[in-house]
Amino acid sequence: MPGLLKDSYNRPIRDLRVSLTDRCNFRCFYCLPHGEPPIAPKEQMLSYEEIEYACRIFVELGIEKIRLTGGEPMMRRDIEQIIFKLAQLKDRPSERPHLAGGSRASCAPGLRDLALTTNGYFLPHRAHSLKEAGLDRITISLDSLKRDVFKQMTGVDVLDRVLEGIQAAKEARLTPIKVNAVIVRGHNEDEVADFAAFAREHDVKMRFIEFMPLDSGHEWNREDVVSGREIRERINERFPLEPLKVARGSETSSRYRFADGAPGEIGIIAPVTEPFCGACSRIRLTADGQIRTCLFSTVEHSLRDVIRDGASRAETIDFIESVVMKKEPRHYINDPGFVAPSRSMSFIGG
Ligand code: SAM
Repeated sequence: MPGLLKDSYNRPIRDLRVSLTDRCNFRCFYCLPHGEPPIAPKEQMLSYEEIEYACRIFVELGIEKIRLTGGEPMMRRDIEQIIFKLAQLKDRPSERPHLAGGSRASCAPGLRDLALTTNGYFLPHRAHSLKEAGLDRITISLDSLKRDVFKQMTGVDVLDRVLEGIQAAKEARLTPIKVNAVIVRGHNEDEVADFAAFAREHDVKMRFIEFMPLDSGHEWNREDVVSGREIRERINERFPLEPLKVARGSETSSRYRFADGAPGEIGIIAPVTEPFCGACSRIRLTADGQIRTCLFSTVEHSLRDVIRDGASRAETIDFIESVVMKKEPRHYINDPGFVAPSRSMSFIGG
């Protein structure tokens, strides 16, 4: 009888990122610099029924967190429908005992956390319906607090609308709200402390992300990476930080509170300069149904084909377990022979 998902390095796999679409209404230069059209034809995209079926199996295999992403996930029609379906998987122990005896403790715990990453554009009118459908919390991308820089980085002139979206998410209690900023040299590193001030003022968890080689134009350059260390120093100069006394576990960010007790939190995600692969618990399902075992994988495994070819539930589980065993030990961004994945973050699902 299969157990909870673990890879060949004994890392438990508990976190699934599901891309709902590879379409996006923004053109962030670090992701889709040339504004390519989506590559997957509609019939190749997983339907909501297929996503629900796959997620139900993943949860039985021990996935505790599902994050819906994209592309821009809110461009997928009636996203509330799939949120509602997935929310039903919350806090329900697996019906399938994993150890002899089948006690509660020996079962997969069920889904604990259903989250969404969005650019915030659709939130002013939709935050409440997401909450009502069963979404727990939200992460909103915001790369600049200056209108001109926001437009230059994202390709769209909608800073005010995204700020409204953050407010709407707060009002809908999609909390704790995380705000993601990718910091890129020469664009927004001078705003790092301003983002910290934003976190204090609005009581949000600010997440600073190092620029990764996941842009579709493959123009990433190491000199453009603003290191986690520099980000910390820039904030510390204005707002002294203290590390949060919580075990990091498989979290992507190192987390800090403001030393003066102000609200808000800082998280620094530094996969380039401070890799955290040893504790990685993540796998990804792309909008066209490919399992990716690492953001930087150069191979994908078609769960869609397995499901559409009529595999039984047991065969599907075998497939997932065998794919997870192939999870890479680490990423190779810092190795001389590093080859960036051919698909950008927007196709992989950030
Ligand atoms: N459209 C949604 C959004 O804007 O949040 C979800 C998808 S987006 C690909 C998810 C996250 O990936 C965003 O916070 C984005 O800034 C980040 N991202 C995309 N390309 C990146 C890169 N090359 N390096 C670091 N982060 C990146």
